[in-house]
Amino acid sequence: MQKQILVVEDNALNREILCEILSGSYRVLEAENGQEALELLRQHKDNIDLILLDVMMPVMDGYTFLNRIRDDAELSLIPVIVTTQSDSEENEVAALAHGATDFVPKPYRPQVILHRVASLIKLRETAAMVNQFQYDRLTGVYSKEYFYHKVRERLDTDTGREFTIICSDIENFKLYNDTYGREAGDRLLQKAAASLQRMADKDSAICGRYGADCFLCLQEQERTRLYRESLPGETSFERAEGMEHISVKWGIYEITDRSVPVEQMCDRALLAAKSVKGQYNRPFAVYDDALRSKLLREKAITDTMETALAEEQFALYFQPKYSLNDDCMAGAEALVRWIHPEWGFMSPGEFIPLFEKNGFITRLDKYVWERVCAQLRDWQEKGYPLLPVSVNVSSVDIFQSHMVDVLRGIVQKYGVDPGYLHLEITESAYAEKPGQIIRTVKELRSLGFVVEMDDFGSGYSSLNMLSQMSLDVLKLDMKFVQNEIEKPATQSILDDVVSMAHRLHLSVVAEGVETQEQVHRLRAVGCDYFQGYYFAKPMPAAEFEELLRNQAFPPALSSLTAPQREDETPGLLIVEEDAEYLAELCQAFEGQYRVLEASDEEKALAYIRSDETDCVFAVILSMTLPENGAAEVLKELRKKPGCWELPVIAAFPGGESPNTLPLSMEADDYYCKAHPIAALQRRLRRLVEASASRQRESALQNQENRDQRTGLLNRRGLQSAMTALRKEDLPLAVYLFGLDTQQTVKDTDGHQTGDRVLCAFADLLRQSTRSGDILCRYGEEEFLVILKRVRGADTAVKKGEDVCEAFHNCAVDELRDVSCSVGVTLCGMDELPFAALIERADQALHWAKQEKGGNCRVWREP
Ligand code: C2E
Ligand code: CA
Ligand code: CA
Repeated sequence: MQKQILVVEDNALNREILCEILSGSYRVLEAENGQEALELLRQHKDNIDLILLDVMMPVMDGYTFLNRIRDDAELSLIPVIVTTQSDSEENEVAALAHGATDFVPKPYRPQVILHRVASLIKLRETAAMVNQFQYDRLTGVYSKEYFYHKVRERLDTDTGREFTIICSDIENFKLYNDTYGREAGDRLLQKAAASLQRMADKDSAICGRYGADCFLCLQEQERTRLYRESLPGETSFERAEGMEHISVKWGIYEITDRSVPVEQMCDRALLAAKSVKGQYNRPFAVYDDALRSKLLREKAITDTMETALAEEQFALYFQPKYSLNDDCMAGAEALVRWIHPEWGFMSPGEFIPLFEKNGFITRLDKYVWERVCAQLRDWQEKGYPLLPVSVNVSSVDIFQSHMVDVLRGIVQKYGVDPGYLHLEITESAYAEKPGQIIRTVKELRSLGFVVEMDDFGSGYSSLNMLSQMSLDVLKLDMKFVQNEIEKPATQSILDDVVSMAHRLHLSVVAEGVETQEQVHRLRAVGCDYFQGYYFAKPMPAAEFEELLRNQAFPPALSSLTAPQREDETPGLLIVEEDAEYLAELCQAFEGQYRVLEASDEEKALAYIRSDETDCVFAVILSMTLPENGAAEVLKELRKKPGCWELPVIAAFPGGESPNTLPLSMEADDYYCKAHPIAALQRRLRRLVEASASRQRESALQNQENRDQRTGLLNRRGLQSAMTALRKEDLPLAVYLFGLDTQQTVKDTDGHQTGDRVLCAFADLLRQSTRSGDILCRYGEEEFLVILKRVRGADTAVKKGEDVCEAFHNCAVDELRDVSCSVGVTLCGMDELPFAALIERADQALHWAKQEKGGNCRVWREP
């Protein structure tokens, strides 16, 4: 398109001559005086490439006009050629002083005019190209380099005023870009730049783009102060349309020393902005010495954390949790400390938030979990009463896909019952990704972990969360507890929160309990467990172990605890036909093991078929039993569930190579009878250790604890399960189910059908209960069921009736004439030995049966 020139001249003839000269190459606009020219400029300012201006004019003369356009940032960029009557030097100087770009004397000489016009237009275009590098193409504010240049220029020339540099940073811009696309991201940046310019004061501010989603602004200190006061949690920028959910962080650097490179000033402003990233209600931060040393410290922490983990500088402290019903310790929380070789003792408050930002927390937490399990195992081996220890689980961990596997792997590795590793999950994790946390918690609980919701009441508490997610324990935040207790009782919601938790079958732990008053109030509202300085501060493992050692078993729990097996001595089965050698062996192992001696095949088989082998950890089997007896014994052993993996030491007479005996290939170890018995001793000790750890690992899963027909626990499994019962499982409902017509089924249809009925009932029980409940085949046709956290007899009876009813309506053919009865008794906080509970359930079952089938009766004081 042709360039356009504005001719400003009051003399009509002169105007005509100029137009004549120019119109061959340009489009021309005409004005008779300065006033008219300004109006035209306003209309066409983007399309006027040059102005030819007469000085002497009525209404508004040329100099006034020049002054006006020099005040306007955009108009001032248009080149102006002044035309005057004479080419006196005086006129030329005056014109240039008023901001004219060039000067031509009258009368007009066409070649001169055309030449000057062309070269000025060219010059301006080149300047515009330079401008393009000065501005950020997307947002129109200065580019970073040009911003630095302009700021330096301002600081050097404008020494009378104080300035600050502000850096703005859009939170989660990357996420926004990924979610809504690049174009939307670009639009957001444009809006951000525009609002920055709007907020900055036009006269003295300089705005630029730092890069990506960060913008810079230099403005007067006073202005910044006003601005800060107007910055509450959200800014006008955030409220702008389409940006309601966008949050912006502002970093402020106050310029005191102008010799600092501008670049560094901007870096510091940015650091200040980054320092409040992710913090609600903190829209800005000022860069100061404190922030500077904090950032340096953070850097030092980041630089040394890997070494710290490798060198085991992280130590575990334990803070006990107490139950006041029985005045006993009920567990502990593991809290990490960093014992730094240079800085000494460091609180987690100083490094955990940083690790959560940089992701290192997943490694540290894994380390903590593993150390806690190792510790639990150690205490278990030392024979201390086992108490659950809770560990903290950061939300960063939860968002890692393999967290569940990590935890499962750790408890397996150390043979720790997952019920003893409580997981404290902070409630803010729910606010971030509800779906994910609900799934993860469900999975963890199905594996037997106990999940505690930490920091409840600290900010994002959602009652929704509690109803959407099954949990075990609600842990009230320290500040929440303290605040609520300060309020008058009528205004406090503590009561409601605790009763709501109980309705949802959650135990309640209060943390940060510091005063007796708090204890009283918490106790009054029914809080179950207490943790806080009032009772004990977090302490090193050794100190906590001291507490454990002095801690008797909680009375309420000890009565629930099954009696230990009378004989814990590991059993050893020796099958040896040589009576003399057998006696020798027995003598060697006496006192150490409970020896079952079998002098022939028949005796050995009898032992194996009885349940005497239950406590046997190894078998010494002579390979020279008559009539291939060793093979028979081995076969019988491998047939019996629970004995599949029992280690067998094949004993053979000296001189024979074990490899020549095919049978010995199936044994786990070999022993030459000619060798000293001490060698055998050593091997046995190793086997005992291995067997003990195997037993721990498989605890409840073990075949030995399961009824083979139904897969439910057998009586022995019931004992282990009862040992694992915890106070927070209370109140319990203990049921004894009796299948009334089981006998008929067996007699008429034979055993097969009987098995099917039993299995159908077992399945029904599994469907009707939760994963942590205890299901046991107690007798031939009796099932003992313990449901945890059942509040009230009504609920308990309803459940019993439901099961009977469902069994009656069961779609299995053989069940036509089968029904069941059940007796139930509740076990609250009072102390009752387990045997007495079962007796009561049995008595109630008896009453139910008397009432003829399909009934549930609850035990009452006769
Ligand atoms: P938290 O999980 O809420 O832990 C409770 C904090 O309150 C602990 O601070 C504990 O020492 C403190 N505390 C306990 N009783 C009282 C009391 O009566 N008064 C007062 N004023 N404070 C009490 P600590 O050990 O400094 O831990 C701070 C936070 O660091 C923890 O808060 C937890 O969020 C985090 N943390 C600690 N260890 C770990 C860890 O291994 N992994 C993860 N992810 N976070 C951890
Ligand atoms: Ca915690
Ligand atoms: Ca907490």
